Amino acid sequence: MSQSKPLIDSFGRVMRDLRVSITDRCNFRCLYCLPETEEAANFYRSKFDSLKNPNPATPIALNWKPKAQILTLEEIERVVKVFAGLGIDKIRITGGEPLLRKGVERLIAGVAATPGIKDIAITTNGFQFQGKAQALRDAGLKRVSFSLDSLDRDNFKKITGRDGLTEVLDGIKLARQLGFAPIKVNAVLIRGVNDHELEALAEFAHSEDVSFRFIEFMPLDSKHAWQKDLVVSAKEILARLQSKFDLQPVKSENLSETAKRWSFPDGRGEIGIIAPVSEPFCGHCNRIRLTADGKIRTCLFSLGEHDLKPLLRGGASDEDLVNLLRDIVWQKEDRHHIGEPEFEQPERSMSCIGG
Ligand code: SAM
Repeated sequence: MSQSKPLIDSFGRVMRDLRVSITDRCNFRCLYCLPETEEAANFYRSKFDSLKNPNPATPIALNWKPKAQILTLEEIERVVKVFAGLGIDKIRITGGEPLLRKGVERLIAGVAATPGIKDIAITTNGFQFQGKAQALRDAGLKRVSFSLDSLDRDNFKKITGRDGLTEVLDGIKLARQLGFAPIKVNAVLIRGVNDHELEALAEFAHSEDVSFRFIEFMPLDSKHAWQKDLVVSAKEILARLQSKFDLQPVKSENLSETAKRWSFPDGRGEIGIIAPVSEPFCGHCNRIRLTADGKIRTCLFSLGEHDLKPLLRGGASDEDLVNLLRDIVWQKEDRHHIGEPEFEQPERSMSCIGG
């Protein structure tokens, strides 16, 4: 397949990074993503006077897509191969919770062996990581991003709906022992929920020598209950951290990097801040997403999706796919509109889109 023409959008941005969601299912019920539990409902009741969903206690309908609508591992590998031929060189496997997908190791091995793919990573909540870690490593996975929103067992449970802090912490330790590097850990900070843990999480970055990234809460929760007041902005995060730690900015040549980074004086660990809400970085976005049910999304906040399944299952050639992908990418939005009056939250939550 020819790489002569890059995969480019109408604003001149060249796509390099494909996020592949391999399942819409998740074993966590994070407040900011897929809230379900009574605790989550209470939280929402206590926080919001004017919910769009008038009855937050109603458990969300966990209408996972039927298996027949989910791409097979072979279909995913084919799409990755076609994208690789178009210049995509970085793949992030995500979900839902990607470790719930049977055969994830096989997929990783296939993707790692795809010509043109230079970097493959996985994003996981870490709950089942210990059982899969060695197989993932053997399959050629080099780096992992964990989600960890709290170091306090009760708060962890409140946020994720699961009593799983120990498993996640042990998973991170095991990742280091097995030589995964870099190890990234992500937290979504929510005001009144875990923002009091900011400094402790930064200490963790240093003591555990991991790259800890604080992500602003985005309007991608299944209850559509996001409110700006709940977002802890990058500016606030940085000011608080700088008052406690001697952080030095890390220079980066990579304009499409989502995180701005800071290092500790002794070089152990690192802090990253990802600020899609208060300091959008759409101008350098080189990312595109494939959902578990075979839809291409050109932005996290896209209101439309492009279904690849009819082509994948209808005997289309790779050339047909290439043409469709070029068309889709050409239509990529210039930016998201969070904070603007016309902003409309996408119907699907982050768990379906793939973070
Ligand atoms: N289950 C895996 C995990 O927990 O890392 C992968 C999927 S999860 C949807 C990917 C990332 O999206 C996680 O780091 C999570 O914290 C982030 N995320 C989910 N909902 C979010 C939201 N509303 N705002 C910001 N980040 C969110």
